[in-house]
Amino acid sequence: MGGTRRRDGTWKSDGQPRITLETPVTYLKGVGPARATAFERLGVRTAGDLLLHVPTRYEDASTIRTIASLEPGMDGTILGKVISKGVLPTRKGLRIFQAVLKDATGMIEVAWPGQPFLDRTIEKGDMLLAAGTVRFYHGRQLTPREWVNLGDNPEGLGGRVLPVYPATEGLSFKLIRGLIEQHLGPLAPLVKDPLPESVRAEAGLMPLAEALMLVHAPPTMADAMRGRDRLAFDELFAVQLLQRRARALAKAPRTGIAFRKPGALAKALKAALPYELTAAQKRAIREIVADMMAPEKMHRLLQGDVGAGKTVVAVFAALVAIESGYQAALMAPTELLAEQHHRSVSALLAPLGIAPVLVTGSLGAAARREVATRLASVEPVLAIGTHALVQEGTRFAKLGLAIVDEQHRFGVAQRAELGAKGDAPDVLLMTATPIPRSLALTLHGDLDVSVLDERPPGRTPITTAVRPESARARVFEFVTRQVAAGRQAYIVYPVIEQSARSELKAATAMFEALVAGPLQGVRTALLHGRLPGAERDQVMRAFRDGQLDVLVATTVIEVGIDVPNATVMVVEHPERFGLSQLHQLRGRVGRGAEQSYCILLGDVGEGAAGRLSLFAATEDGFRIAEADLQLRGMGDLFGERQHGVPTYRVADPLRDFELAKRARAAADRTLAADPTLSQPAHAALRAMLGARYETALTLFRTG
Ligand code: ADP
Ligand code: MG
Repeated sequence: MGGTRRRDGTWKSDGQPRITLETPVTYLKGVGPARATAFERLGVRTAGDLLLHVPTRYEDASTIRTIASLEPGMDGTILGKVISKGVLPTRKGLRIFQAVLKDATGMIEVAWPGQPFLDRTIEKGDMLLAAGTVRFYHGRQLTPREWVNLGDNPEGLGGRVLPVYPATEGLSFKLIRGLIEQHLGPLAPLVKDPLPESVRAEAGLMPLAEALMLVHAPPTMADAMRGRDRLAFDELFAVQLLQRRARALAKAPRTGIAFRKPGALAKALKAALPYELTAAQKRAIREIVADMMAPEKMHRLLQGDVGAGKTVVAVFAALVAIESGYQAALMAPTELLAEQHHRSVSALLAPLGIAPVLVTGSLGAAARREVATRLASVEPVLAIGTHALVQEGTRFAKLGLAIVDEQHRFGVAQRAELGAKGDAPDVLLMTATPIPRSLALTLHGDLDVSVLDERPPGRTPITTAVRPESARARVFEFVTRQVAAGRQAYIVYPVIEQSARSELKAATAMFEALVAGPLQGVRTALLHGRLPGAERDQVMRAFRDGQLDVLVATTVIEVGIDVPNATVMVVEHPERFGLSQLHQLRGRVGRGAEQSYCILLGDVGEGAAGRLSLFAATEDGFRIAEADLQLRGMGDLFGERQHGVPTYRVADPLRDFELAKRARAAADRTLAADPTLSQPAHAALRAMLGARYETALTLFRTG
């Protein structure tokens, strides 16, 4: 694109409106409204977003094997032309898309089970790059773990580094690459570097514009990695700034609140509990109480495996606040979970004559007013709710303790917002995802950490089994037998990264096949992340209340749902899940008295089989998390790319350990010099934080 650079740094194309980083992508040459809609799905709205749509990985010729050299059992990347293709209707419900790829040395069959819709996007004559394991199945067959359609006329790959971008339906990887190539030159120089010169110099980082050029159009793989490191640093630095600042605010000496030693209420709860607290629970409560009585504000993370009993620990903390005349709030990531907490905590506290209030977005106007009145009075109440707790209209007269459940589901800023309510309360974060201590430092600034490393006694272990495709019919017979015996079951499908739409199709197609086939006559519903929240909650409630027997779902059910009557968890394509995610899913069963089962169903490769049998052999979440971290890294531990706030798009706090250390040091130096980031040199940094973390700037308010 021809044009001239303006004095203010914006770009003027000849005879066209000037393009800035804020220009909606729809006005970029080659995009238009339809593609802009598809871009929206990828989170790309403006030209600036397009620049930051970075490759997930790279391919270069050095990674490609000749087709002739592939042997069963090998893992490899190939580049070949589609010479034939088609959909094979095989077993009940499962249709397989197959293509034959050919290069100069030979041909191989490539198969995509359960993805018949690919028939519409992959054409004869297209060049495909595919990576995966080869197995022997009527000849050699490759099932791609990852693949890219290069289209019918890719320029030679020879020696070139090829960035691979996240794509979506209507926007192929190839198209995205072409558009970025076309606009990179004019756009990159418009980028304002958010890092102050001093930080860049000290951390030895290249300018952002240069990094973007390298990331999108790297001459060599090493260049791509250097560019990527700069982007990763920015993410780590931003998160460190937020965390260090949140920490500094949180640790500021408290004005006015002095929690008293737990007294009659705590004693009454202990007496009323239907069980003994575990030693780990007692220890965590002691640590929390000590924090609450200390002159600084508490800023603590409570880690405990699924079912370790975090809720009751939180309730003890809430009682300390209430007994001292303060209010407490417990925030959960979904409405359903909030309701569930409200129900179980109400039962726990009933003998003490304490009735918690529920605060969610779907309260009626009258109920909302009543809640508002109670919270605005000085009544020492326990409020349980969703993010509605931190919304504008919710005011606490005397909030002394803020508890956040499943905290990784919330963004840094949202957590901080609850902490900023009322009198800047003590903060207790809870998570079921265990993290090694070293990593907790990078992820959570430096929170104090309590760990529940012990399970309440008397749990029946969950039977976990890995079953091949050939056992499919028997698995579903088992499900229907359990349903006939009055139990309930979940059947979970993975998120397929290629496209959110194809994910939907996979789950939807399977749902239809199941309802027409093995689950005929069973009350079954479909649940996925694209349903509106209210509808999703409605389905979950029906399941909880026993009006449904089986839920066919994507991972939306993963968080904290407690349906004791559910005894079977079937996971399809288990190899696509991280072990920690599987562990969370498994934690949805085994919550009642009945024996529960977790069945991982599918033909998995050798590597996956090893991982899955490790998973089947233990119910220890810490061991599973450690294995997961070693095998797959951070992103998968939290599944954050799939839901919630994508705190890290480029960085990987586990692998980028060195970079994270530099980022933390730089954040500390920056904040020491300018705690509120109000110096002119930090204007671009403020802008970046504001853009990335929306409400984060409240942390840096000066007045
Ligand atoms: P999580 O840590 O996953 O949030 P919960 O707090 O929901 O776990 O507790 C899971 C179940 O264990 C609940 O039904 C709770 O009543 C029960 N529970 C908690 N502590 C104990 C204990 N010390 N002994 C027996 N059961 C317990
Ligand atoms: Mg919980």
